[in-house]
Amino acid sequence: MSLKTEIRLAPNSGFCFGVKRAIKLAREAAETNKKIVTLGPIIHNPQLVERLRQRGVDSVDNLDAITDQTVIIRSHGVEHNVLEKLKNSGAEIIDATCPYVAKAQELAKKLSREGYPVCIMGNASHPEVKAIRSYIEGEVFIIENENELPEKNFTRLGLISQTTKSLEDFQNVASKLLPKAKELRIVNTICSATSVRQQATMSLALESDIMIVIGGYNSSNTKMLAKICQNIIETQHIETAVELQGNWFTGKFKIGLTAGASTPDWIIVNVYNEINKYTGNGCPFVSSIEEIPGYKE
Ligand code: SF4
Repeated sequence: MSLKTEIRLAPNSGFCFGVKRAIKLAREAAETNKKIVTLGPIIHNPQLVERLRQRGVDSVDNLDAITDQTVIIRSHGVEHNVLEKLKNSGAEIIDATCPYVAKAQELAKKLSREGYPVCIMGNASHPEVKAIRSYIEGEVFIIENENELPEKNFTRLGLISQTTKSLEDFQNVASKLLPKAKELRIVNTICSATSVRQQATMSLALESDIMIVIGGYNSSNTKMLAKICQNIIETQHIETAVELQGNWFTGKFKIGLTAGASTPDWIIVNVYNEINKYTGNGCPFVSSIEEIPGYKE
């Protein structure tokens, strides 16, 4: 008897609350027929950015490119001084900063105002981290992991994280920093949507023969999902279905799918249907993400 291949999607895959909200605001803005731009791509997904461009929502990289357009601040937020300049320029602003990111900015400011040097665990070049950093008024350290700890010791130190980092990495950093600070104030700013998706992905990877991670190559949270899966099982990170290769699925009977917070549903659906073709199972093709086995919002 030949084994039937199963393709399952990790629960909580795809758009998170903050991304859904930003895209909704962008779509609503597009309907006003005003000139709309986002400061930086609205999410780390080139396919969705292109769809919005076709609806008249362009993306610009810096303030100089903004003249008379309405400006959407993306879910990652923006540096404090950039926001001030925009406000002073009189531009109409639609602030789609995710409330959880705004909370991390506020906490960073509060810690520094209370006299804590602040350590951010995150990627220094990521827009969200640049924005959080800009709210810190005193000393700041940005580290990727426990191998990059500041050299000095501290009387007091605040520790926060980029919202999409893994809880495990944050715990490692916190425990390594503890001997370096008399007072270590840890605020867990990791977004629950991120940790829930990571947990669900890890559980599915443990039951799968291969994991396909779907999302932008420049998406921090998608890369984190790929890292989690790679530590468990053979993993391929793709942006769209065209990158799939049939030989990845030879001898694989349990295929796991997961997707980052900025991966649109239609891309996940395409990937599922395409893998179905490769496995030759004759499973029904789906037209919405809700129909994929394992789906849970
Ligand atoms: S991952 Fe969390 S913090 Fe980041 S945009 Fe989504 S909901 Fe907001």
